[in-house]
Amino acid sequence: MTSGSEEPEHLLVAQDVFAGERFWAALDRLAGRRGHDEHPRILVGLVDPTNRYELRCVQCERPIATMEVRRDAEAG
Ligand SMILES: [Zn+2]
Repeated sequence: MTSGSEEPEHLLVAQDVFAGERFWAALDRLAGRRGHDEHPRILVGLVDPTNRYELRCVQCERPIATMEVRRDAEAG
């Protein structure tokens, strides 16, 4: 059974974590929790704004998560 939520999860990702080992491991766990375990996935970058990305499941043809990369560590 799933939670029933079909909305992609929204994530905030720090620039230095983005596309690193921990980043992919976290996305793997997230995809697994949402029922996309072992499904092929792609990370799609949006053109505008350019710091937004979407993790899509190729098999289910839908977004698993959207993310916003924070280039500025010094928030606030
Ligand atoms: Zn899937």
